[in-house]
Amino acid sequence: MNHLSVEESKGLHPWNKEGYVDAAGLEQWVRDRLAWQQQQIDTLLAVTGDKTLENTLRAYDNAVATLSAAGSLASLLDSVHPDKEVRDKARELTQAVAEAATALSLNQGVYRALAAIDMASADPATTHYVSQTLLNYRLAGVDKDDATRAHLRALSDKATLLSLTFAKNVQENVNRVELTDAAELDGLPEDYLRNHPPNAEGVITLTTDYPDMQPVMTFARSAELRLRMFRAYNTRAYPANRPLLLDLLAVRQEIATILGFASWADLATANQMMGSAANLKKFIGELELASRAGAEREYAMVLAFARKQQPGLAKLKSSDRGYWYELFRREAFDFDSQSVRPYFPYQAVEKGILDTAARLFHVSFQPNREAGVWHPQVSAWDVYDRGQLCGRFYLDMHPREGKDKWFSAAPLIPGIEGRQLPEAALICNFPGGKPDDPGLMQYSDVVTFFHEFGHLMHAILGGRQPWAGVSGIATEGDFVEVPSQMLEEFFHDARLLASFARHYQTGEPIAEALVERMNRASAFGRADGIRTQLFYTSYSLDVHNQPPQELNPDALLEEGYKRMLPYEWVDGNRMYASFTHLIGYSSNYYTYMFDKVIALDFFGQFDRANLIEGPTAMRYRKAILEPGGSKPGTRLIEDFLGRRQKMDAFAEWVGEEFAGSSANQQEKG
Ligand SMILES: [Zn+2]
Repeated sequence: MNHLSVEESKGLHPWNKEGYVDAAGLEQWVRDRLAWQQQQIDTLLAVTGDKTLENTLRAYDNAVATLSAAGSLASLLDSVHPDKEVRDKARELTQAVAEAATALSLNQGVYRALAAIDMASADPATTHYVSQTLLNYRLAGVDKDDATRAHLRALSDKATLLSLTFAKNVQENVNRVELTDAAELDGLPEDYLRNHPPNAEGVITLTTDYPDMQPVMTFARSAELRLRMFRAYNTRAYPANRPLLLDLLAVRQEIATILGFASWADLATANQMMGSAANLKKFIGELELASRAGAEREYAMVLAFARKQQPGLAKLKSSDRGYWYELFRREAFDFDSQSVRPYFPYQAVEKGILDTAARLFHVSFQPNREAGVWHPQVSAWDVYDRGQLCGRFYLDMHPREGKDKWFSAAPLIPGIEGRQLPEAALICNFPGGKPDDPGLMQYSDVVTFFHEFGHLMHAILGGRQPWAGVSGIATEGDFVEVPSQMLEEFFHDARLLASFARHYQTGEPIAEALVERMNRASAFGRADGIRTQLFYTSYSLDVHNQPPQELNPDALLEEGYKRMLPYEWVDGNRMYASFTHLIGYSSNYYTYMFDKVIALDFFGQFDRANLIEGPTAMRYRKAILEPGGSKPGTRLIEDFLGRRQKMDAFAEWVGEEFAGSSANQQEKG
C-alpha cells in the first residue's frame, strides 16, 4: 500500500520531495488541512437521518486524523527546522491547530451527533473509542452554556500560547560556560577535549546542550566547573519562563474550577489510569517509603567514599552527585563508564538498535533516501511487516542551533487501516553528527535510545487501527511510558550488546565481563534515582494542586528538593524554568514511575536466556503494541500478563541493584 492521506489528495507532508518547505508553504499546507477538517465537521452536522458509524464517526475521525497530523507536523517543524522563520511560523500554526482542536472539543452539535450513533453493531475498539471520546467531551465542558464554553476556549487558547512560548524559550536560550584554563577540563575524555578547542583568545566555550553538559557533570574533577555548569544548565530560560509558568498554572486552575474540579491535578488525572490527585499522592507516599532506607544507605556509602578522597567534605552538593557516583562505581564495581564509550559510537548503536528491534518485533527497516527530510542530518526509514510496507520513521539525532534540546519520540501521522500509514520521528541530542566525531555515547545515552525506540515501535505497530483516534500511542497518557521503559531493559543483555557494541577503533566486541560490571555498577543508586524521580513527580503535582496565587515556584522547589534528596541544595537553581515536562505532562510526571512498575512486570515475562528469539516478544507486540489505544490500559495489562499488574518485579529491581538506569536526570520524552 502506498502512503495515502485520508484526504486522498496531494501533500501528506508540508515539505516537498527534497524536504523543502518555507513559511508561506507551511501556512498554506496547514490552512488547507484546517479547511478540510471543517468540511468534515460540516458534513457530520448536516446528517439529518440516523447517525451511523459511517456517516458520523468516520467524518469525526477524519477531522481528528487531520488535526492530529497537522498539529504534529507543525509542532515537529517548530522543534527541528533549521530556519527560524519557519520555526516561528510553525509555532504560530501549532497554535492555530490547537485552537481548532479545542473548538472541536467544545462543539455541542458534534457531541450530540456522536452520542446518538447507533452502536449496536460496533466492535469493541469502536465502542471504546466512542465512550472515551464522549467522556473527554464532558471533561472539556461541552455541557456548559455558550458563554462559559467561549470562556473555556479563550482560556485553553491562552494556555496553548503560554506553553508554546515556554518551550520556545528553552529551545532557543542556550547558556554558555567559558573557561580560560584548559586544566579546568581535567577528567574529561580525550574526544571531549578535541571537540572543545580554545579560540584565538584562548577561551574554551561549553554550552548547556546535552552532549556538552552531561560529561562535565560526570567526569570533570573541578567541583567549581561542575557547579558553574549546574547553574548554567538549571537557569536556562530563566527569568523569562517564571512569569509564563505562573500564568499557565493560573489559567489551568481556572479551567479546572469552571469544570468543577478542586485542582488541575484532579482534572488531569480524571481520565487516566491513576484516576485522581488523591490516588497520586498515595502512590508517591508508597514509593517514598519504599525508597527511603535504600537511598539513605546509598548516599552514606558515596559520602564516606568521597570523604576518603577529600577529608573534611561535609556534604555532597546536587552538582556533585554524578561525579562522585562515577568515582564510587569505579572503585566499588571496578567500572569506569568511560571504558564503554568507545564501544558505543553513534552509527553502530543506531544500527544495533534498529537490528535488535527488527528481530524482536519481526519487522524490517529500509532506509528511504527518496523521502524528503527537513535537514541533511535526518534519515528516513520505511518499516516492513512480512514484506508489507507498514509505516515510516525519521531519525533526527544530534544537536543543532535552534533545535529542541531534549530527547523525545513524536508521532506524526496516525495510521488508519487501509487508509493511511503511520509516521513518527525521534528528536534527540546524542553525541556525533559532525565529521571526524565518532559520537561516542555514554551507556545512559544508549538506554535513552532504546527508550525512544520503544515509543517509535508503539506508534508504528499500533498504527493499524480502524480509527485515527485510537491509533498508535493513543492509550491513556499514563500508559505511554510502558513500551519505552520496557525496551530499556534490553540494554543490559550481554549477548545482545555484543552483537553491535564494537570498539570504534579495533572492532573488538564488548566483553561479557565488562557488561556485567557495567550492569552491577549502574544498578547502584536505584533508590536514590527513584527519589530523584519522586522529586520531579511531587513538584509537578504540587504546583498543580494548590492555589496558584499563593505559589512560589522557587520556595516549593527548594522545599521539595530538601524533603526528597540528601544533597546540599544549590542556591540559584531555577530548574522549573526549563522543566518542559511541566508543559507536556503538567501534573502527570508520575507517569514514568507508574509505568516503570508495569514495564518491569512486562519484562519479567521474557525468557532472559532467550530474550530476542523467544516467543514472548511477538506475544507482547500483539497484546500491547498492536492494539494502540483501542483498549483501556488495565485491559492491555491483563491481556499480556493474564493477571493484574504487581509490584513484585519493581520491588525486586530496587532491591537487587543489578541493572539500573541513569538516575540524576529528568526522564527523556
Ligand atoms: Zn518516554
